[in-house]
Amino acid sequence: MALDNSLRLSDYTIPIALEAEPGKTLLVHGYTGAIDVVDSELWQTLKDFPNGNNLSSEEIELLGKRGYLTSKTTEEERAYVAKFAEKLHESRLKLQKNFGFVVTYDCNFRCPYCFENAISKHGTAWSKQSMTPELVDRAFEAMLEIEPRKELHKKSILLYGGEPLLRENHDIVKYIVEKGVENGYRFSVITNGYDLDYYEDLLTIENFIDFQVSIDGWREYHNRRKYHFREGGSFDKVMSNIGLLLKHDIPVSVRVNTERGNFKDIDRLTEYFKEIGYHDNPRFKMYVANIDEIKGVNKAKSLKYMGKEEFLANLKASSSGLSHSREERIHRSFSRYFNGRKRLSFVAEACTGQTGTHLFAPEGGIYTCLETVGKKEHSIGYFNRPAIEWTEARSRWFGKHVGNSDNCRDCKYALFCGGNCAIKEFEGKRETQLCFRYSSILNDAVNKAYSEFCNNKQV
Ligand code: SF4
Ligand code: SF4
Repeated sequence: MALDNSLRLSDYTIPIALEAEPGKTLLVHGYTGAIDVVDSELWQTLKDFPNGNNLSSEEIELLGKRGYLTSKTTEEERAYVAKFAEKLHESRLKLQKNFGFVVTYDCNFRCPYCFENAISKHGTAWSKQSMTPELVDRAFEAMLEIEPRKELHKKSILLYGGEPLLRENHDIVKYIVEKGVENGYRFSVITNGYDLDYYEDLLTIENFIDFQVSIDGWREYHNRRKYHFREGGSFDKVMSNIGLLLKHDIPVSVRVNTERGNFKDIDRLTEYFKEIGYHDNPRFKMYVANIDEIKGVNKAKSLKYMGKEEFLANLKASSSGLSHSREERIHRSFSRYFNGRKRLSFVAEACTGQTGTHLFAPEGGIYTCLETVGKKEHSIGYFNRPAIEWTEARSRWFGKHVGNSDNCRDCKYALFCGGNCAIKEFEGKRETQLCFRYSSILNDAVNKAYSEFCNNKQV
């Protein structure tokens, strides 16, 4: 069979040297989804293809079928990926819708980096607004207006704030939870955990799927940053409330917010969670987040913000065994693939804020991203009226995908990464450090998944 002379190495071929099998390389293709373990020599041959290759026509044909060799030009490949992302995005838009309640904008803590600090400029009365039973009823109606097919609603509704579980909001939270459960939903909560003990009557696995509780490092550090506006340091109370959730068999993810000043605390916290028995509870998880500086929103002199590069290097050097959330996502996806349970999936977005998240807020706004609640320019619509009124922001949020992002369209990782966080891109802050690091994040996550797979095969 005559070989196609225009064949060349595809721009979307991703090589990953396998630490568990020296001399072998994992080839991953960025839009066919092919994955193959090959001799590293073959990768060297492909890099220079067609120069000096002695591949048989069958091998070349196979490499072409997998996508590593292609007759498409660079422009044709980019156009293909852009179209692929657009189709993927269109189908995601038609699928699942996620809902959430911003129970209140009010909070009992005064964290210096909170991106909702900007809301306080609207005045105290505005930020003290909370959901009312009428608004809750209207939000449940609006959910059906947004997607009449209830089977396409995610069955977990998010409770968010401000702080969603303030003790004074017990009655409205009870109203939301009871109404949700009656209608076939359960709840996830993002909370600072301080007033959780006031909610013990509601803490059942029938009501709640999981909780995320944020802490800011070891006791002294945490207490300096996350203090109750009247009662002071919160560390011990929050720790005890995490125990309360576990006592009721409710899964908890502890998110440790870090910056340069408290990063070292994660090793101590890991040890502490082992000592008090949380670490070995299958319902307990801990992960680390880097506090991002959002200029003009959460700039705090007391914080020493780390860039992504520094954060990832510190995480790698720590003995906690914890990983970055993006690395974790890649690791999960490749682990499932290696264990034969699932095909590798592609994504066209950084998060569901670009597809189907609708957060109902107490002033009547609807938002898609947690970091934008209360910012009028990002409200995609209003539900506090007889029919939802959508705004121009809706098409901006739901129209964005990796295929129409100037920054990402040409990137070989586009359909694995999903692109930049939309809010950063809208506000002109591209995560160039993340892009720079993406190949190394992918490399670490895939190698971790592959090594685990090899070790499991041996036992
Ligand atoms: S847009 Fe960015 S900040 Fe907002 S939910 Fe998505 S990833 Fe998070
Ligand atoms: S954010 Fe960076 S790594 Fe991700 S798709 Fe865009 S350019 Fe590629």
